Amino acid sequence: MAVTGLCILGATGSVGCSTLDVVARHPDRFRVVALTAQRQVERLLAQCRQFDPMVAVVGDATAARWLQQELAAGGIKTAVLHGPDGLTQAAALPEVSTVMAAIVGGAGLMPTLSAVRAGKTVLLANKESLVMGGSLFMDEVRRYGARLIPIDSEHNAIFQCLPQDSSVGLDPDGVRRVLLTASGGPFRQLAAEALAHVTPEAACAHPNWVMGRKISVDSATLMNKGLEVIEAHWLFGLPAERIEVVVHPQSVVHSLVEYVDGSVLAQLGHPDMRTPIAHALGWPERIDIGLPMLDLIQIGQLTFEAPDQGRFPALRLAYEALTAGGGAPVVLNAANEIAVAAFLDDRLPFPGIAALIERALQVLGSTPAACWDAVIELDDRTRAACAVWLGNGT
Ligand code: NAD
Ligand code: MG
Repeated sequence: MAVTGLCILGATGSVGCSTLDVVARHPDRFRVVALTAQRQVERLLAQCRQFDPMVAVVGDATAARWLQQELAAGGIKTAVLHGPDGLTQAAALPEVSTVMAAIVGGAGLMPTLSAVRAGKTVLLANKESLVMGGSLFMDEVRRYGARLIPIDSEHNAIFQCLPQDSSVGLDPDGVRRVLLTASGGPFRQLAAEALAHVTPEAACAHPNWVMGRKISVDSATLMNKGLEVIEAHWLFGLPAERIEVVVHPQSVVHSLVEYVDGSVLAQLGHPDMRTPIAHALGWPERIDIGLPMLDLIQIGQLTFEAPDQGRFPALRLAYEALTAGGGAPVVLNAANEIAVAAFLDDRLPFPGIAALIERALQVLGSTPAACWDAVIELDDRTRAACAVWLGNGT
């Protein structure tokens, strides 16, 4: 068996740590070549001690010096790089064949693109990069012969339910529509008036999944599902009207594909990211990760309901941005990142997140973004505009 050389972008995060957990169970299959982190340098040091990568990347030069000294003191020869250039280099190393793209937010765009441009197999957790890049991103995937395997549990489920030979990015034969399941988040049953008073802690306490703080808030607003609708559009080549969202509070059915003959295929499993990660890492083979069996009798009931777009307008905004096209998804994503950071920082109430995004879309949503420079410029412009609106409380 050939050993897979891995780069894990965002190794210290929730997806990064789950990836290393899977990798540690299969030391004969995977060689960790590069690990990256922004701020959690101590955790990265522990990971370097365990996996002995060729390269580690951190956010800045000070952290890089500290890490290099600690590693040298322990006799570990990992080379330490830093900053955006370090990330770009790590993702394109010749020793790497597979890159786990698990940085959170727009910061993941350039490193993920670097992996695509180096023709790697890209395990895509960083949905924001695909939302921002859209057709530009998919064009690069095709141009450089990269392979995209979705890590997001819903898209990984859909990938598993599609014909094995269907290539990512093309409307697969015989598919009528895909159904993305959503847990509904921690506020699924909360009255609209109460949403104005929810805290960041409550928003981050997801009922089923343990995740980073940004995606936890996205799950609470349903923007996560909105970003996932856009992600599904690009990954599977389906128009918005053939991508449906179904709230499924148990998070056992991870998504479904409906075919024209009426067959509906679903993928089920525990709400544990190690399953889609193991699927993508092992693909096209299956690897054991020691999870307990799914006990359907104990689960008892699987329920489904429509999303409430009145209390959770973010989902509607995402559909509108997808349909509008051009720079609208870039604006949606950037405004969301600024709004979520402000909410986590107690500077914006929960309903203010969708309100800020809506305002950004009204002001900037019709800006075109037909090349990468335009995408980056619009992303910057949206973040700056949102910061001003937040700053002067208008
Ligand atoms: P997290 O916050 O737990 O971890 C983020 C990682 O990115 C960390 O390693 C951090 O060091 C790194 N990072 C943050 N800012 C950075 C920057 N400016 N430059 C370089 N690195 C930076 O996030 P997460 O929950 O693991 O999510 C990661 C990505 O995976 C997100 O795009 C998220 O939407 C997606 N995702 C996560 C889950 C999940 O269960 N956590 C599920 C599906 C998809
Ligand atoms: Mg998901």
